[in-house]
Amino acid sequence: MRVSADTARCEGHGLCEEVAPKVYELDDDAVVTVVHEEVPPELERLAEAGARVCPVAALKVIR
Ligand code: SF4
Repeated sequence: MRVSADTARCEGHGLCEEVAPKVYELDDDAVVTVVHEEVPPELERLAEAGARVCPVAALKVIR
């Protein structure tokens, strides 16, 4: 599973990072980065939860 981040859409409030800090990080400009190109199986549920809380739908789970 992968997660794609639409960085142009990201507003940098960091909800995804709060929910899943092992999957999402904000960079110095408060724009989301995805830590793993391929999300490890044990982090998939967290990755999905983080994507769901994004208020601007900037994160997409790709299977
Ligand atoms: S929750 Fe969405 S808008 Fe907020 S930092 Fe994460 S990707 Fe960006």
